[in-house]
Amino acid sequence: MSDESGFATRAIHAGQEADATTGAVVPPIYQVSTYKQDGIGGFRSGYEYSRSANPTRTALEECFASLERGERGFAFASGLAGQDTVLRALLQPGDHVVVPSDAYGGTYRLFNKVLRPWGLEHSIARIADVDAVRAAIRPGRTRMVWVETPTNPLLGIADIEALAAVAHDAGALLVVDNTFASAYLQQPLALGADIVTHSTTKYSGGHSDVVGGAVVVGRDITVPGLEDAVDRVAFHQNSMGAVAGPFDSWLVLRGLKTLAVRMEKHCDNAERVVDFLVGHPAVSAVHYPGLPDHPGHQVAARQMRRFGGMISFQLRAGEDVAVKVCAETSLWTLGESLGGVESLIEHPARMTHASVAGTELEVPADLVRLSVGIEDADDLVADLGQALDRLG
Ligand SMILES: *Cc1c(COP(=O)(O)O)cnc(C)c1O
Repeated sequence: MSDESGFATRAIHAGQEADATTGAVVPPIYQVSTYKQDGIGGFRSGYEYSRSANPTRTALEECFASLERGERGFAFASGLAGQDTVLRALLQPGDHVVVPSDAYGGTYRLFNKVLRPWGLEHSIARIADVDAVRAAIRPGRTRMVWVETPTNPLLGIADIEALAAVAHDAGALLVVDNTFASAYLQQPLALGADIVTHSTTKYSGGHSDVVGGAVVVGRDITVPGLEDAVDRVAFHQNSMGAVAGPFDSWLVLRGLKTLAVRMEKHCDNAERVVDFLVGHPAVSAVHYPGLPDHPGHQVAARQMRRFGGMISFQLRAGEDVAVKVCAETSLWTLGESLGGVESLIEHPARMTHASVAGTELEVPADLVRLSVGIEDADDLVADLGQALDRLG
């Protein structure tokens, strides 16, 4: 395996040499807190204490760095823990951040309810609109532009390359939450972003059995005063301590091995479900970047390998019916989260995005969000069809 190897090869092998003593082909779960020193400071392979570093976590961090083609990867106890660490490592009270008008509710809550009282100011901009982002920048004070693409739950698309130029012109970092696309479908660092974050709870883990986060810092950060981003994130990861445990790291590593094949199937199935929804009389709008009339279609086609497994749609009959549809499917499980092998359905306004009600990030009440799994597409379409036909 080399740095030039393809994505699936790196997902299976990067950071995962066969175990030196036993030859185990999968990195063992080093369920351990501390390490014997051969004399004071005589660390074997550098391991001292598992908050600072643990071999199973190191394997995951190296794999993520390789997949996103970054300088270094960091694994956290959750996606939000990774985001919090990035924000507090690289920014300070008095700094300003531009945040997206459509974003994961918990990310916005972190900005609005945790980091604003800490002294971090933010402005909200529609990140599909490059000029709106440029206008939201406060010269000299904006140190970061935060982007999610595709966005949650409306599947908006941000032009990563254009926003990187806008951020860098202003002396700010571009951070991309790559959770919805996954490292397989989109590589923000190659498009000019400085840092990538993931909720590995979603596609990276992929089996709805682990909560985790990852951060990858890019190779050549040139934003003045933040060139040492790798060291700062490393220092804060250890100092704040929200690290991924050994078993959680192992689960995410195991998930990554099949990310490429899973994502292809998620995309195949999503395309089938979109075809069905677009033709259904109960549906007033379908949000999917693969649709030619989606406002971000051209940009998505340029910066994504395919268009992903997330879809949202609106019901002609309004909120009550949207809520009922979510309750009337049987194969589609009503639940939060996304990116697992099993298909999920949810009502963002009352579930994942309840925390942004009454803010500028409020989502339409007639919206239903689908995380399309990798079951048989015919079964998924049939189950959604019976619910829509009955209620729509
Ligand atoms: C779930 C999610 C997060 C938060 O990750 P956790 O693992 O739940 O902390 C952040 N961003 C996006 C886009 C998400 O979907």
